[in-house]
Parts: sequence; structure tokens; C-alpha cells
Amino acid sequence: MTDLEKKTVEGIISAEQADPMVKEWQATLKKEWDEYLASGKTTLFDSATLHKLQTYNGGDKAGKPVLIDTFADNTLPAINWLESLGMEFKGEVFTVLGALWNRSHKPVKPLGTGYIETYMNYISENSSDIEIMVDTKADSFIVEDGVVKGVNAEKNGGKVTLRANKGVILAAGGFGANSEMREQYNTVWPSLKDVKTTNHTGATGDGIIMAQEINASLVGMEYIQLLPMGDPKTGSLSGNIEQGVQNRIFVNKEGKRFVDEGARRDVMTKALMEQTDANMWVIVDQHSYPTGDTKNNFNETIDDLVAAGRAFKGDTLEDLAKQIGVDPASLVNSVETFNKAVDGTISDEFGRTLFADKIDTAPYYAGARVPTVHHTMGGVEINEHAQVVDANGQIIKGLYAAGEVTGGIHGTNRLGGNALADIAVFGKLAGQNAALAK
Ligand SMILES: Cc1cc2nc3c(=O)[nH]c(=O)nc-3n(C[C@H](O)[C@H](O)[C@H](O)COP(=O)(O)OP(=O)(O)OC[C@H]3O[C@@H](n4cnc5c(N)ncnc54)[C@H](O)[C@@H]3O)c2cc1C
Repeated sequence: MTDLEKKTVEGIISAEQADPMVKEWQATLKKEWDEYLASGKTTLFDSATLHKLQTYNGGDKAGKPVLIDTFADNTLPAINWLESLGMEFKGEVFTVLGALWNRSHKPVKPLGTGYIETYMNYISENSSDIEIMVDTKADSFIVEDGVVKGVNAEKNGGKVTLRANKGVILAAGGFGANSEMREQYNTVWPSLKDVKTTNHTGATGDGIIMAQEINASLVGMEYIQLLPMGDPKTGSLSGNIEQGVQNRIFVNKEGKRFVDEGARRDVMTKALMEQTDANMWVIVDQHSYPTGDTKNNFNETIDDLVAAGRAFKGDTLEDLAKQIGVDPASLVNSVETFNKAVDGTISDEFGRTLFADKIDTAPYYAGARVPTVHHTMGGVEINEHAQVVDANGQIIKGLYAAGEVTGGIHGTNRLGGNALADIAVFGKLAGQNAALAK
């Protein structure tokens, strides 16, 4: 726990807040913080209350406190639950981009496969009556006497009618891959029509449109998340050489840092958009890749990325700068100044507070990145029981929703790591509440 991290917690405790529930969180955090200080501990402080306040503040106070309360109280239980089903997480936490705190849990198996295997194993071992229908497109809800009773869908060109005994759970994801919907709702960014996305092609917003057709309330649709981390050719996160927030910097084409690299995702992306060609280089050193076969979050080794021309490797910073067409003196100066902020000789010029090691050990690596659409914070309004709410504030009977299809939790900006937490917490809640429905 560094002095800068201590200041962050104290700033959150003393910040002006208007919402009564948020003020309560602050009072709880103060108690937790005093206990931590009295304990003499030096390890990183964290709590569900700090997570609530960071989620709320990090979304510009536009998220609903009652949803954030349910969310953050249930994230650790959700991890424990997933582990009880066989999901494996690595022993150490890290800070995923835009998480603002060191609390991100990395699965042992890459690319989401750990989650899918866990659920599939559970289903095959415990629930022979669960049928999974892939390539089946839901089109509309079946509503009878004001209660959602099922969905109309299409498979191989034929109609499929699916009826539900207890309730329907909408979990059809966001609309990051639907550029028309992005254009329809975006009021925050310049046009996103031609911006690429990190997302899969199924992030079409279908579920939001279906829910809207039965008068569901939509919230926060204008809040679309971009990352400064897209592959310049595809927009994908693949090829990203960062290994967490603490050990890397971003430099522009002039070799200069331009933002606090531990900041919110929207802050970093806006800053990137103002740089030459909206293009930047992620710079790391041996601390991130102790060996050439060390993998990034996309299961790619750094050696393979270098061999494919997707990353560059230099024995010195000057050498690296020449390879990427950046002024060597400028890159060296940026790294040296950053290193002084790491050891506390100077305050960071961009107010960065999250540090680990200096960038001072060869080999050095660089990878190019551009802005890319990542996530949509807005969607179908739910209450804290994951029930869908209509435009008049009434519950739509029989309909639950969870995950990126919903809105109202993350406000204007979702913190890194909060989406996977969201889908586990509200997915489980939606399932439980639908199962218990009369
Ligand atoms: C590359 C990448 C990396 C990420 N990394 C992280 C991370 O490290 N931490 C984190 O917290 N979050 C991360 N996120 C965000 C997070 O993964 C998503 O927000 C989350 O997976 C959304 O889950 P979901 O179940 O709500 O929706 P999805 O996972 O999008 O699933 C929705 C499903 O519904 C299907 N569907 C859509 N329309 C229909 C229809 N009409 N009929 C039938 N099916 C339909 C889609 O095809 C899809 O299979 C990442 C996202 C991306 C793209």
C-alpha cells in the first residue's frame, strides 16, 4: 500500500457526495479504513465498500447506487461460487486496464475458456434437462396477459417457439458491434461509425431492441466504452502487450507520454484521440516479459508477436525507438522521467498513482494501439432483483435480465474487470429469482 494509494482512499472518503446511500458507503469505508490503519498492515487495502465507491465515482455518479450495492457485495461470493463449480483463478490479483485498483482476478485458462468449461461441465454433470441451442436467433418475446412467457426464435430458417415455466432471462449482450445503434445513441464521442471494435459479431443489441418492443425502459444508452487498446488493423485486443496497469507506459508518435496510464478508460481514450493519428505505442520491458515465451492476456507469446511484426523488441530504448519511428531522445527522456516518478523522486507529470517497477531492464518492447469500441454501459433497466423495469417504472412480469444487455450499473464509464463481475453476480441473481418465481 503506497502513500499515493493511501491518498486515493482518503480522497474517496472525504469527497462531496449527495446520495444518502453513497454517504453511508463513505461512513462504512471510513470505519474500515481506520481499522486497517490501526492494524498496522502494509498490504493493499480493499473492501466491497471501496469497490462500490470506485464504481460509482468512476461512472460519474450516473450508476444506480442500489444496483452497485448489490453488485459489489456479491462479487467476492460470485468468485467463491465459480470456484466451487471448478473455475480456477490465478493466486495473485492484478490491475486490468481502467480498473483503478489492484483487484482483477485472472483465470488460469485463457480467453474465457475457463468460464465456458466450468458452466458446461456443471451442466453436463448436474442438469441433464438443460438444452443449449446454438445458432438459434431470438426475435421477440411471447407475452400473455402482461407476463413474459417465452421467446419466438429462428433456427436454420425455421421458426422455433420456446416457452418458459418460470421466467425468461435476457442475456443477449451489448451493442458494441452494431455501428448503426452506436450512431443512433452516441452523444458523447465523435462519430463511432467507422471505429472498429474489440467485441464479437453477436454484440448486436438484439436483446435491447426486443425488450424495447415490450416497453422496457432503457438507461444510459449514450454511454459507449472505448479502449485505447485496439489492434490498428482489426480493433481487437489481441496483440496487446500490456500485462496490467503498473508496468507500462503509453507514448505518442513523438515519443512522449500524454496521459495517466492508470486512469479511467474514457479519459485515456479521449487523450489518445488528441494525439497524432490517434495512434500510440505501449512500452514495456523485461518486467512484463521475463522470457520470450511469456504470454499476454490473449495467449500470445511476446516472441511470436515480434516475429509477426505485431510488436517490436530492442536491446536499448534507442534501438526500440528507431524501429518504431519515434525520436530516440524523446523516448529515453519519457522513460527516464517516468522512472523518477516510480521511485518517488518526482510527482508524476500526469498524476499517475499506480506503479510497480521502473522501465529499465532490457529487452524493451513496443506495440501499436488505437481507439476501439469495447463495451456498452447502457441497456435494459433492471432492479436489484434483476427484474426488468418498464418505461412506467413497473416490473415486467416474467422477464429478468443480466450482463451487458442491461444498463444502470456502470454509469458513464465501466471500470476494468467490472463486466465479468457483473455477469456473474446478476446472472446468478436472475437465475435464482426466476427459479424461485411462482
Ligand atoms: C475482447 C474482450 C475482452 C474483455 N475482457 C474483459 C475483462 O478482462 N474483464 C471484464 O470484466 N470484462 C471484459 N470484457 C467485457 C465482458 O467480457 C463482457 O461485458 C461480458 O462478457 C458480457 O457478457 P454477456 O453475457 O452479457 O454478453 P455476451 O458475452 O456478449 O453474450 C451475449 C450472447 O448473446 C448472443 N445473442 C445476441 N443476440 C441474440 C439473439 N437475437 N438471439 C440469440 N442469441 C443472441 C450473442 O451472440 C452472445 O453469444 C471484455 C470484452 C471483450 C470484447
